Amino acid sequence: MTKTGKFIVTTNASDVFRQSVAVFSKNYLPINQVNLKRALVLLVSGKAEPLDLGNNTTSIPVHSPTMVFLVPQQIRLTVNHKNRVWRVPTVNRREVLRRDKHTCQYCGNTKHLTLDHVMPTSKGGTYTWDNIVTACEKCNNSKGDSTLQEAGMTLQKPPKAPVHPIVAFAEQFWREHKIQLEGLEN
Ligand SMILES: [Zn+2]
Repeated sequence: MTKTGKFIVTTNASDVFRQSVAVFSKNYLPINQVNLKRALVLLVSGKAEPLDLGNNTTSIPVHSPTMVFLVPQQIRLTVNHKNRVWRVPTVNRREVLRRDKHTCQYCGNTKHLTLDHVMPTSKGGTYTWDNIVTACEKCNNSKGDSTLQEAGMTLQKPPKAPVHPIVAFAEQFWREHKIQLEGLEN
């Protein structure tokens, strides 16, 4: 078991490899998500170990010609995680669309997207994370040079600067697991 290349997935290869594994730091903090291949490499090379959070997740079976390797849905790094320097990205179309998941923040439309100043420039609105949102052409046009109140429009959520990817992942991870746990209780 030294090379992951020896593992051949016999059924639904693409499905299996599309699954992802949550990676925890040595200090048990959820840090990101990797695909199955990457998880296998980390496990086989000893850089990670299976992590059981007691949340009843099932392992993902990967078949080799002679054995089945079970990849847990959560792994914990046994080596120190290299924390790359991260800065809040500058406000631009690509980053704003990414933050807003390519969705109009007024109506949820995912087509003909533009950037909108929540507080219009003419009224002192700035080109900053808390004042720029993704808006479809229709919403942008109907809002025009008005404030939210004047236009009678509401935002789906208040705009804010993106957070560190690790923080974002941790928030999403615990949110999903809380939903899972709540689902079990009912
Ligand atoms: Zn819209």
